[in-house]
Amino acid sequence: MTDKKRRQFVTFMGASTVAIPVSALVGSRAAFADDAPMVDEASAAAINWDYKAESTMPDQMCVNCALYQGEADAKGGPCPLFPGSAVSTTGWCKAYAPKPG
Ligand code: SF4
Repeated sequence: MTDKKRRQFVTFMGASTVAIPVSALVGSRAAFADDAPMVDEASAAAINWDYKAESTMPDQMCVNCALYQGEADAKGGPCPLFPGSAVSTTGWCKAYAPKPG
């Protein structure tokens, strides 16, 4: 291995070890603030996903969606579609997918 290739390899490995922990936190429950604001139905993301804080779909609510990452008995919690905000446990959007089982 030449010195140039060795330097490139070391630089690449250094960047990789820094990038992995940061990317592991993005979108994870650990990175979610418990006092995060509730999703604004008028926001561009909410409109894009047809999100409503009160579901009108029988038996379909965020609390029983596979993407919901909050506690079932909470007012709301994280959903990867709305980073930095909390979805209502009684909410719904067009990406709804039932929890398995
Ligand atoms: S994907 Fe939609 S229905 Fe499921 S938790 Fe997120 S906002 Fe709620």
